[in-house]
Amino acid sequence: MTGSEKRLEHARLIDGTGKNPLDDSTVIVDATGKITYCGPAERAPETPDVPTMDLTGMTILPGFIDAHVHFLFGPKQSGNSQDRALTTFQVAERMRQTLEAGITSVRDLGGLSVGYSSAQQSGLIQAPRVLTAGRIIGHTGGHCDATGPDGHNATGHFTILADDEQSARVAVRTVLREGADVIKICATGGMGSPHDDPDDEDLSEAEIRAVVDEARRHRGKKVAAHAQGTAGIINALRGGVASIEHGYGITEEACDLALAARTYLVPTLATAFNPMDPSKVSPLHFEKKSRWAERTRENIALAISRGVAIAMGTDAGVSPHAANLMELSHLVELGMTELQAITAGTLNAARLLGIDDAVGTVEPGKLADLVITDADPLADIAALADPEHVRMVLQSGVARRDTLPIRTPVTA
Ligand SMILES: [Zn+2]
Repeated sequence: MTGSEKRLEHARLIDGTGKNPLDDSTVIVDATGKITYCGPAERAPETPDVPTMDLTGMTILPGFIDAHVHFLFGPKQSGNSQDRALTTFQVAERMRQTLEAGITSVRDLGGLSVGYSSAQQSGLIQAPRVLTAGRIIGHTGGHCDATGPDGHNATGHFTILADDEQSARVAVRTVLREGADVIKICATGGMGSPHDDPDDEDLSEAEIRAVVDEARRHRGKKVAAHAQGTAGIINALRGGVASIEHGYGITEEACDLALAARTYLVPTLATAFNPMDPSKVSPLHFEKKSRWAERTRENIALAISRGVAIAMGTDAGVSPHAANLMELSHLVELGMTELQAITAGTLNAARLLGIDDAVGTVEPGKLADLVITDADPLADIAALADPEHVRMVLQSGVARRDTLPIRTPVTA
């Protein structure tokens, strides 16, 4: 079944809207990869010539969306890491593995050039649909400035420095010229950054407001802010960003601001809770990360209980690639229901990315980006992170992964 036209019968359907599951469903996909019907099996129209699959015992979900990845980053591999061809193939492989793990769309928040999303769109590679930020905007000496004391800069190709409102505007224009779909800024320092801490501020509130205004002037592009400590989170919220990335230091006051402005929080718990080997990092870094993991647990649980809009994102690249759906378990650990976590990874993420007209839920008129699992995600959300349970992944109705048993086509 290589084309997109198909009829999926008898699966349980969790459509991503937050509605309760539908037990005996039919989903019909047309030759353009769009859903034409999804709903109760007994009300489904006849489709005499459409290839049909019996999915009894399976659950259909929307393809998941990871709102925060870095495909350019990953474990060091053998070979010459300075060779761009090698890097390109490594990135393409990570993208394929991520797609096969059930992630059909992503937002890459720093490092990935627009060529990768073009390659995906033109079918050169099998990968999630990609919105990319390209280069990250931040202060000299801030989170994204990896220039060493000797002036050697190892990260110039994914960073652009800006130190006042005007240069922040120029930086936005520059990354848009390079093809960015979304603007990524640093509002705070970071856990692993060379010169600063999560509690340090990066771009000021006024600079963030200038970035947001400049992005708005270009077809309403959105701004995502790396923001870990409280002061920077508040600067970013007041500055008008679309999403707070990480948000580990979020407080009651920041929750109020996020609720009032309908700003999304992308808590990247996979990275906050990613176990660290104390023998591989400095004692200072280990202590810093352990302390922040505890704060994260309390503060993100608070944001969830306050009803702040949450979109799933993992910071994959810092955390492992293709284990993205582990994030759903972390969200449930901190107070979400399984259904809410699924919505965070589907409809909410699609809304944040501005692609909810095309994907994010299983509804007529949307593209058939679907995940088919033999697990019961409402009873065991962690099972979705196990590749064995992701039996089939469809993108616009086309199978990108299929480990279901060989079927005799049932054609009416
Ligand atoms: Zn990140």
